[in-house]
Amino acid sequence: MERLVRDCFRTGGYVFAKKADEHGLSRIARLASNENPEVPSPKAQAAAKKALGKANRYPDERVDVLINALRAHYGDYSFVTGVGMDGVIETLIRTLVEPGETVAIAIPTFSFYGLAVVAQGGNVTTVSRKKNDFSLDPKQLVRAGRTAKVTILCSPNNPTGNATPVEIVSEVLDGIDGVLFLDNAYVEFSDCDYLPLMKQYDNLILGRTFSKVHSLAGLRIGYAFVPPWLVPYYQRAGTPFAVNSVSAAAAAGALTDRDHAERYIAQVKRWRKRFSDEVKYPVMPSDANFVMVDVSPDTGDQMVEKLLKHGVVVRSCRSFAGLPDHYIRVSIGEDWENKLFIKAMNGL
Ligand SMILES: *Cc1c(COP(=O)(O)O)cnc(C)c1O
Repeated sequence: MERLVRDCFRTGGYVFAKKADEHGLSRIARLASNENPEVPSPKAQAAAKKALGKANRYPDERVDVLINALRAHYGDYSFVTGVGMDGVIETLIRTLVEPGETVAIAIPTFSFYGLAVVAQGGNVTTVSRKKNDFSLDPKQLVRAGRTAKVTILCSPNNPTGNATPVEIVSEVLDGIDGVLFLDNAYVEFSDCDYLPLMKQYDNLILGRTFSKVHSLAGLRIGYAFVPPWLVPYYQRAGTPFAVNSVSAAAAAGALTDRDHAERYIAQVKRWRKRFSDEVKYPVMPSDANFVMVDVSPDTGDQMVEKLLKHGVVVRSCRSFAGLPDHYIRVSIGEDWENKLFIKAMNGL
């Protein structure tokens, strides 16, 4: 019966981080998925528990509790929500891209964009970042974006860590024909503020998530700043009740705990510097809560195996199209995890 499955799902798919506890180690540094190592804020947990007690009812389809919390936090913007930012991306592609239409993607980057486009019957055009520092040539992205329905740029970029300056993003927005999806999963760790662009452009979407700085990866909740024209169409295209009431309540609660986010942002800034000062391999400059490390002459896969033996789980960058195979990506975790990583790396 497998012959019934669509061609695009016969091979490939999302590559998940290694599972740690398969290796019989007691204490494992989990530095592969860019999560905040701190458990969710007590405010998020209390709100989630309260919502759980009413989970016999379907959630509010407008997700008002979260939309209102986002407005209280950021101001008067239009938002959409989804099952993680991944869910937002999926629904946006479904809303905007007809089968056979094109999406332009700057690579190397997060792999889910391409998977979501192909699953919808769209075509992907890739634009390579510069080889030396992985910065973006806006003219190349504009050239591809002139014939694309959607252009996708990740800033700060996963896995390279660097952010694209606001002026360069403006240049892309001015030049392309369709919509720019700017993935801001890690923006809280950078010094870039793309929000003023929302008021200037009606073709910009800023994707955000509660999975990273807000410690809610397990609850799968994402959102995006969108131009107001998009909201009713996104709602029509999306799965009904996609965002569950417990996650929405937790996310709204998390937004009210600024200290929780600030603590991890400070930790990230401290350790980004220590990683680049102390690790004996070249560490790429990062605006995110992870760094990419050049581990040549090893491959990324080889280094992942070596570090696992020391109880450190990191991500090989082999599966990122457009990147040589000698990089790993390492999240910034708790002090003991970061120290264990540095010790293991420098002892190899
Ligand atoms: C983690 C991540 C996301 C999505 O996260 P969700 O858990 O689906 O909200 C999106 N984009 C990038 C670049 C990421 O690293």
